[in-house]
Amino acid sequence: QAKARGRNRLSFFEPAIQDALMRRSRLEADLRAAVTREEFTLYYQPQVDHTGTLVGAEVLVRWNHPHAGLVPPGEFIPLAEETSLIGPIGRQVLEQACSRIAHWNSLGLGQSLTIAVNVSAVQFRDPTFVTQVLDLLSRHGIDPSRLKLELTESLILDDVQGSIVTMNRLKAEGVGFSMDDFGTGYSSLSYLKRLPLDQLKIDRSFVEDVTTDPNDAVIVRTIIAMSRSLGLDVLAEGVERPEQRAFLVANGCQVFQGYLFSPPVDTSTFEAMLTGRIGFVPSRR
Ligand code: C2E
Ligand code: MG
Ligand code: MG
Ligand code: MG
Repeated sequence: QAKARGRNRLSFFEPAIQDALMRRSRLEADLRAAVTREEFTLYYQPQVDHTGTLVGAEVLVRWNHPHAGLVPPGEFIPLAEETSLIGPIGRQVLEQACSRIAHWNSLGLGQSLTIAVNVSAVQFRDPTFVTQVLDLLSRHGIDPSRLKLELTESLILDDVQGSIVTMNRLKAEGVGFSMDDFGTGYSSLSYLKRLPLDQLKIDRSFVEDVTTDPNDAVIVRTIIAMSRSLGLDVLAEGVERPEQRAFLVANGCQVFQGYLFSPPVDTSTFEAMLTGRIGFVPSRR
């Protein structure tokens, strides 16, 4: 009732806000239906080492909307997180990713690749998360070390001790962890060394101007040095130009992801890359 009254008052002063609220509740209803209809589809973005060899891929979800077409995650993941629809969406993403890996295994494809999946805070904090992941892996007969979970700094910082416990349970079975968008949060060395991480993923925002902005160059060099002293792998995301790749290689970063190599591609395109039927196709941008 209070809500209804609030809404009336808003409509009296601010029709634009009521519009926005209406769009949002329509989107939420659509998203709820999308979960039931399983309208999510996975794209794969190649991860490549300094020799140009495919070493893995990041799974990036898209919503295949019946009218709007492919909706990028930035347009529905935040709402999914607020409405806890992220729980079932995250489960569908993991399920699809695992059944793909199992399918590739059955064809003898990409068996040395690590597949990285993004995990949201709400999903990670679910007390059943660990058993969900382990059940999926065993149901599909997948070696847990094929899976890497991407967590953000803010997710971990929110509850460092709880995160360590959850990570350790999965880590004990072989699941890997990468810290996504690294450098955009408030990580300190003191807790970084307590986390059972395998990889730091340098945020695209630092890679963008790394060859022209001395501050970004220092940050990127520091992250690379930090990962080395912690014994972690380091991957640079958002690599778009050869100069960026050259800088990264010269400074000791040996795994890359970005439009220079390939944008995220649909399943059949990625499978064509796995069979070697097609090479990487850089994004024109
Ligand atoms: P992210 O995990 O940092 O993923 C990287 C984003 O950068 C992707 O955007 C990718 O398409 C984009 N990208 C890759 N290479 C380049 C490049 O060279 N240049 C530029 N400008 N961009 C590049 P996308 O697919 O729109 O995903 C956005 C974000 O949505 C992801 O950021 C991730 O945080 C989230 N997300 C995606 N899939 C999932 C999912 O299954 N679950 C959850 N919880 N979040 C997801
Ligand atoms: Mg990611
Ligand atoms: Mg990222
Ligand atoms: Mg990012």
